[in-house]
Formats: sequence, C-alpha cells, structure tokens
Amino acid sequence: MPFTPDTIAALESAVFLANSWLEPDTLTTFDDLDTFFDAHEYTGDRPTAADLEQVREIRPRLHALFKATRDGAVPLVNGILAEQGALPRLVRHGDVDWHIHATTDDRPLAERILVETAMAMTDVIRADEMSRFDRCEMDDCDGVVLDLSRNRSRKYCSTTCTNRAAQAAFRARQSD
Ligand SMILES: [Zn+2]
Ligand SMILES: [Zn+2]
Repeated sequence: MPFTPDTIAALESAVFLANSWLEPDTLTTFDDLDTFFDAHEYTGDRPTAADLEQVREIRPRLHALFKATRDGAVPLVNGILAEQGALPRLVRHGDVDWHIHATTDDRPLAERILVETAMAMTDVIRADEMSRFDRCEMDDCDGVVLDLSRNRSRKYCSTTCTNRAAQAAFRARQSD
C-alpha cells in the first residue's frame, strides 16, 4: 500500500462524508456528526452545533473531488489548499507517530476536513492512484467506492448496497 495511515484515515472519513450526502442523507443531526467525529478518531476541538451545517455543506465538494479525473482533481485540491491557507507541518500526538497536519485544531471542523482531504489527495494524485476511487456498482447508486485493497475487491459504497446486491442476486437465482 503506497499510502501512510494518516492519508488513509483522511480518505476514508471524507469518502464516508461524500456518500452520506446521497439519499438517504445519513448526516442530519448533531448526534450523527458527533458519532462521525469519534468513529474516525478526529483530533482537535470537538464539533459544536454550528459545525453540523458547515460539514453538511462541504459534502458535494468532496463528492465532486472523488469523482474527478486526475487532472480534474488538481485544481480542486489546489483551490482548497489556497483558500484555507494550508500550512503543512509534522506533528506527533498520543500514540500516532509523525504525520502531517496542515491546519490547526481550533479551526472549524469543516475547514479541517477540507484541508486533510486535500492533503491526502496530493498523495493520491502524485502516486497516480485516482483509480482507487470508483463508482458504486449498484445501478442506481452514485456512491463513491474507495478501494485500498491489494486485489481491488470492493464493489459497493456501503453495506446497504452490498446487501441490496446480494438480495438482487438471490432473487435472480430464485427466478431461474
Ligand atoms: Zn494528527
Ligand atoms: Zn452504493
């Protein structure tokens, strides 16, 4: 795997957010945001009520970034880094070894997510690994699949789509 743990964590959490924007929206309450924050082991200031709407609003941007071509993603990434005044530095905290933070812990959560995602995407683009992002194979789903597995075995964006595909395959067998 060519990516460092902080890059993988940033990509996984941002893809989760991008997919949460699709119907049915799965990030609608402060509890949803709080759960997301803990599940993805964010550091820095905990979200407040004001963060919910801001995080909800960046989701279409994240979705577009993961759907972009390699060349198309570059201006999106550069745009975020410039707009947010990203300033990369090496940090070490808790039991997490040296990694990069390019924003500060007191910035609004949505801004931290944008910067972390853009920094992670600089790794993806330089490694020419945009093919790690794919469209969910479920027909009517616009979800993003992030496949970091060696054999690229992931097909669906969520357990919901995985289960729906399994049910469809089961029904197809029944009707044979
Ligand atoms: Zn950190
Ligand atoms: Zn899907």
